Amino acid sequence: MAELTLDNVTKHFDDGGDVITAVDNVSVDIEDGEFLVLVGPSGCGKSTTLRMIAGLETISDGQIAIGNDVVNNVPAQQRDIAMVFQSYALYPHMTVRENMRFGLEESTTMSTDEMNARVEEAAETLEISELLERKPGELSGGQQQRVALGRAIVRDPSVFLMDEPLSNLDAKLRSGMRMELQRLQEDLDVTTVYVTHDQTEAMTMGDRIAILDAGELQQVATPLECYHRPRNLFVAGFIGEPSMNFFDVTLEGNRLVGDNFDFEYPLSQSIQDDLEGTTELVFGIRPEDIELVDSKTGEHVFPGVVDVVEPMGNENNLLVRFPTEDGDGATEQTFNAIADGMRHLEEGGQYDVEFPESAIHLFDRATGEALH
Ligand code: ATP
Repeated sequence: MAELTLDNVTKHFDDGGDVITAVDNVSVDIEDGEFLVLVGPSGCGKSTTLRMIAGLETISDGQIAIGNDVVNNVPAQQRDIAMVFQSYALYPHMTVRENMRFGLEESTTMSTDEMNARVEEAAETLEISELLERKPGELSGGQQQRVALGRAIVRDPSVFLMDEPLSNLDAKLRSGMRMELQRLQEDLDVTTVYVTHDQTEAMTMGDRIAILDAGELQQVATPLECYHRPRNLFVAGFIGEPSMNFFDVTLEGNRLVGDNFDFEYPLSQSIQDDLEGTTELVFGIRPEDIELVDSKTGEHVFPGVVDVVEPMGNENNLLVRFPTEDGDGATEQTFNAIADGMRHLEEGGQYDVEFPESAIHLFDRATGEALH
């Protein structure tokens, strides 16, 4: 067990003369036993970060430490890390037992009895004891994934690194394995960095989430903090499904004025301090926070037309539009909302849309930074 520290870690690639900065000054302290999920869109630098921690990629700048040891120049096999890949990377000609034991055999100090005991214990934990004599080709995807995990567990490493380990499984198996992996990580209490682009995995699995965009760390916080207090527009739009709705607004006195709505919004002192005279803002509201009511008036209530109803069972995903008169020059704006699945909503029907004050997020339009 150990803490893992990334201090201004940077990676440049030379792409035929052009320099690509895949990871840009990333600093994060991952506590001993913590489950950190590294999440972000394709190409944001997740795998490169993980590969630098693993020792599979050199570090251009900065420092990585495991416990008190800086490992920048320590070869991968000596880093006391076990990695689980998306592809499982099992040897097809070896049995499950041999695959799980393989990593241990490189260790010259361990007796055969000890190796076998470790393999059997891990197999029991993962409920794959009856598969030990089979070859990977005779296993389902989910079972192969367990073997790949088993191979990591037997090494009893200080740190687990996992690169999209569930992405080859079908949706149902994936949600089951998601919970099992969490349970396993809690039982083993090993510091874990888990890479995914799936925000459901990020929200449900991590003690904390580290969100990357274009190589830069955007926020490191608990899943709920990222959801409720996103640091900037990128995080606000990335965390949450369907995504947060955004509208450009202008601050006029204590009113937020958009193309299709305007309302009073008394700004807290801390927001006023952050604004420094800026009046060009972005107003954000999550689909699940929008209320659709049949008849209501109030400061935050506006007419909306439901264009599309997408029934999901327990809820309906809606595409709503602010009604515009033909030729009145107003910009057509649509947004997503979520309504209870039991509720009957007419496509083309007009409703009153409420943006509850407590659910409003504001951002500085120029910097993208959240105003709290
Ligand atoms: P994905 O989710 O698609 O796997 P990622 O977030 O893991 O993406 P990386 O694989 O870390 O992203 O890549 C980050 C950036 O670095 C990308 O622009 C990628 O093209 C670039 N990159 C990665 N490896 C190399 C390399 N060996 N040479 C040049 N550029 C590279």
